[in-house]
Amino acid sequence: MNEAELNFEVARLGACRIPSPMGSIQFVEDDEHVLYHTSLKEIKACECAGREPPGFEIAGPRREIFFDPSKLKCGIVTCGGLCPGLNDVIRSIVLSLHHHYGVQTVFGFPYGFEGLTYRYGHRPLELSPETVRDIHMKGGTILGSSRGPQDVLEMVDTLDRMNIGILFTIGGDGTLKGALAISEEIAKRNLKIAVVGIPKTIDNDISYMDRSFGFTTAVSEARTSIYAASTEALGARNGIGLVKLMGRESGFIAAYATLATSEVNFCLVPEVHFTLEGFMETLRERILKRRHAVIVVAEGAGQELMAETSGTDASGNVRFGDIGTFLRDRIKEYFGKAGMELNLKYIDPSYTIRSKSATTQDSVFCLLLGHNAVHAAMSGRTGMVVGFWNEEFTHVPIRLAVSKRKRIDPNGKLWDYVLAATGQPRNMA
Ligand code: ATP
Ligand code: MG
Repeated sequence: MNEAELNFEVARLGACRIPSPMGSIQFVEDDEHVLYHTSLKEIKACECAGREPPGFEIAGPRREIFFDPSKLKCGIVTCGGLCPGLNDVIRSIVLSLHHHYGVQTVFGFPYGFEGLTYRYGHRPLELSPETVRDIHMKGGTILGSSRGPQDVLEMVDTLDRMNIGILFTIGGDGTLKGALAISEEIAKRNLKIAVVGIPKTIDNDISYMDRSFGFTTAVSEARTSIYAASTEALGARNGIGLVKLMGRESGFIAAYATLATSEVNFCLVPEVHFTLEGFMETLRERILKRRHAVIVVAEGAGQELMAETSGTDASGNVRFGDIGTFLRDRIKEYFGKAGMELNLKYIDPSYTIRSKSATTQDSVFCLLLGHNAVHAAMSGRTGMVVGFWNEEFTHVPIRLAVSKRKRIDPNGKLWDYVLAATGQPRNMA
């Protein structure tokens, strides 16, 4: 998508005519925006091309709202893999609907989009401040989740039949694509149902937003594993600690966990190509010189090194080869052949991390994402996801958010920071 085609406009169900019941609060005006570009050079380039610099709508409570809270029914669904903070977001949405707007009826649809499809026979849960009281203390999602495609027509039938006015979808790129398909079908039928997403991706790989919830918790938990790997590596002759972390297409968790510990010697991510020979040779040199090494590998790294492909999951996502065990076995083989002693410890903390409850910073983030999703939906905005850009919560059209994936730029600053923290060569190909 070229710059001139970037469209930050968020769809609306209609005019806002109902005064917000939120009392003493600073309302956000519809013409408040945060600039997309952060460098003066880019802004000047827009101006030279005769375009207004693009910007996101700033999220927050509006003075007038679209939905009448006394008649409104809402639904929440969580889809895809587990991620710390899911329950915090559910709770935040329920509490905001109830306390800020006085909405009485909120349903939780069980097991992702399955819960909106009647053939599964899942019964929606009624969510109230009482039922969500303690849920943020626990990891996972009280609603359950699922993968796999569901019939969009049937899901919209369910929303229509149950008289739902707002559907909140908490999930990653797949969920957002699903939410977009649902909102398009709603528009086709001319229904007044808002669909608002909250970005759940532990990998932090959704475009047009600085951060998604669960990421900070994941990095912090990953640190524990890296410290363990480092201790193991230092505790033995020719010790190697190998940690596999999440990151299918984007290696942000691996990169930030590397920076957070500053004990990693090799950080391998999907965005930066390496060959087995290049990596092994550098590792051997390091072991000969320093007698220990810590390696962090993101799950999507080095996929081209593995011959086998493992098909797709229920949602059509490609099943990745296990780069962690692959590297573990190849390293053992390589050192064995070279007649070198090796003490390798392999740690894969992925499921331990995914099921954790949110840490402090993520809890704050989840709460505010939930509040801002409610404010956006109450104002009749739809087909959008709540983002975070330049320290502001924003409204992002789903179409834009799913148009490309956010990835580490191998020529950018983050990767330079990683190289500076590990000392690994830029090129291991
Ligand atoms: P994760 O980060 O854990 O992968 P995700 O939201 O991407 O989260 P998926 O399992 O890929 O998880 O997708 C969640 C749901 O969205 C699934 O039920 C999937 O079938 C549905 N979905 C994905 N793409 C589409 C689409 N284009 N149209 C309709 N539904 C979709
Ligand atoms: Mg996905």
